[in-house]
Amino acid sequence: MEKFDYGIIGGGPAGYTAGMLLAKQGFSVVLFEKDKLGGTCLNRGCIPTKSFLHSSELYNQFLNSAEIGVSFENFKFDFSKVVEKKDKTVEKVRKALELAVKNSGVKTVYKEAFIKDNNIISAGEEEYKADKIILACGAKPRELKGLEFDGKFILSSDDILNLKELPERVLIAGSGAIGIEWARILSNFGTEVHIIETKEHLLPIADIEVSKRIERIFKQKNIKFYLNTSIEKIENQKVHLNNNDVIIEPDFILSAVGREPVCSLNCNPDIILGDACGEIQLAHYAIHQAKEFALGIPFDRKLTPSVVYGEPEIAWLGLREQDCDESYTIKKLPVTALGKAWCDNSTEGFIKVITKNGLIYGVHLVSKEASALIHTFLIAMQNNLTINDIKKTCFAHPTYSEGIFELILGL
Ligand SMILES: Cc1cc2nc3c(=O)[nH]c(=O)nc-3n(C[C@H](O)[C@H](O)[C@H](O)COP(=O)(O)OP(=O)(O)OC[C@H]3O[C@@H](n4cnc5c(N)ncnc54)[C@H](O)[C@@H]3O)c2cc1C
Repeated sequence: MEKFDYGIIGGGPAGYTAGMLLAKQGFSVVLFEKDKLGGTCLNRGCIPTKSFLHSSELYNQFLNSAEIGVSFENFKFDFSKVVEKKDKTVEKVRKALELAVKNSGVKTVYKEAFIKDNNIISAGEEEYKADKIILACGAKPRELKGLEFDGKFILSSDDILNLKELPERVLIAGSGAIGIEWARILSNFGTEVHIIETKEHLLPIADIEVSKRIERIFKQKNIKFYLNTSIEKIENQKVHLNNNDVIIEPDFILSAVGREPVCSLNCNPDIILGDACGEIQLAHYAIHQAKEFALGIPFDRKLTPSVVYGEPEIAWLGLREQDCDESYTIKKLPVTALGKAWCDNSTEGFIKVITKNGLIYGVHLVSKEASALIHTFLIAMQNNLTINDIKKTCFAHPTYSEGIFELILGL
């Protein structure tokens, strides 16, 4: 029986990060993956969705680009190429990851693994001894009663990646990051999109003003949404909503109502990392938990940024307006204040900051490049930089980043 210092079950961001960092310190590591290296993030999550989003946005921008002097004859898109590009992207990133894992000295076993007792892992016919066992087996789409996935009419976020052609009309159940991103992808391509959300607002985990702005943007884009609403019944693929007598006949329903940890292993690991913990289900959270475990470099869980992709991007960090009392100062800069936004034809959105006693407690962005802007705030908050420190910083012009400076200067 082969012996290792660490046995890791699950080759997603949590598992491969922990594996590589431990191996680089000289520990012997065996990593078990029953499917493909990269896990949900690379194969069914972050990467394929952003590839779809990119194609759909480019198409949408070109559809409306005549006004900025760019127009095409015989302009069209080919969905099979969009899918091909998504597959190639995933493959390329995975190949690079496989090489990095191999070069780090981690032994990868492509089999489903089971913990037999505290130190023995079985995979296929083999058994492996590991002094410590790390569980990093991820999460799976949550299935609601009455909305059980069938891969045809009721799709999970995994199933929808196998689309071969675009639907005419879809119903998306749930307006978290996954629901919002798919609404954007499909609507950019011309699909009629309906979203139902049981809570009072779209993207209910966000700052209230962010949610309201997304609702405004979606209305402008003719994405239909029904708040405080759930499905009453489905009859012959007709979906009856529980209020206002709405009946929708979608080509399919995407059920995007969250994800739950995969905990099928009846075991007692030394540590659980990533989505399997049931804490914050984001790839960077998984990566930083793994880094903390392997290198002992801690991170502040409260400063885990959230990003929802699409045009404009949405990003946030820290306290939301609805969490604050009047002792906090809330200040907002519309993106229309930025010359770069006018150049790019991307004037929708705002940069909003929540401060108290000269420190930043929350940031909420709806803006092009929000996924990059959030990190300036993150570093400031992580290091307790004051508003005055930021005022001393020279931001380049014209950029979206200078919006941070303009906003802070006004405080
Ligand atoms: C549609 C979608 C979009 C997303 N977009 C983003 C985004 O933009 N940004 C972001 O930060 N996060 C995003 N996420 C979330 C992100 O994918 C997860 O948070 C991340 O993948 C968690 O990493 P992990 O290593 O914990 O688990 P996973 O990535 O799920 O990896 C777990 C791995 O363990 C393997 N496994 C499970 N059981 C066993 C076993 N018994 N033996 C062997 N192998 C096993 C699985 O096959 C899997 O490969 C998205 C998720 C989805 C579904």
